[in-house]
Amino acid sequence: MTAPLTGGCLCGAVRYRLRGQPFHVTHCHCLSCRKASGAPFVTWFSVRLIELDWLGEKPAAYHSSTAVERGFCLRCGSTLTYHHESDPDDIDITAASLDQPEILTPEHHTWWQEHIDWAHPDEQAALPTYARNHG
Ligand SMILES: [Zn+2]
Ligand SMILES: [Zn+2]
Repeated sequence: MTAPLTGGCLCGAVRYRLRGQPFHVTHCHCLSCRKASGAPFVTWFSVRLIELDWLGEKPAAYHSSTAVERGFCLRCGSTLTYHHESDPDDIDITAASLDQPEILTPEHHTWWQEHIDWAHPDEQAALPTYARNHG
């Protein structure tokens, strides 16, 4: 039995624990995710809503469209969840908010039609990488 997966926001006010296995790990390039996070794309995983426990504070909610609710930390602003009412039993969580994001294997890029040209993975692979700051 492996330890339950845990994660949380930047400031630590919002914490969560998963009792189920993450699935559907995707890099989402849609405009809404980009605007909501300030990042060129957001990597999400899904989990069954009943297998998610909030510890500490619950995320604040913002309706980015009538059917979509996005959760974030009210204190530090971390992007945390995405819930679509057409899929009420599942919730998406930002992969990078996990304490151990390495356990995930992203499966695909979604909303590629809205991707930023320089957020192309081949472009990224061709660029030099720096472990920390550069310049
Ligand atoms: Zn926070
Ligand atoms: Zn998206």
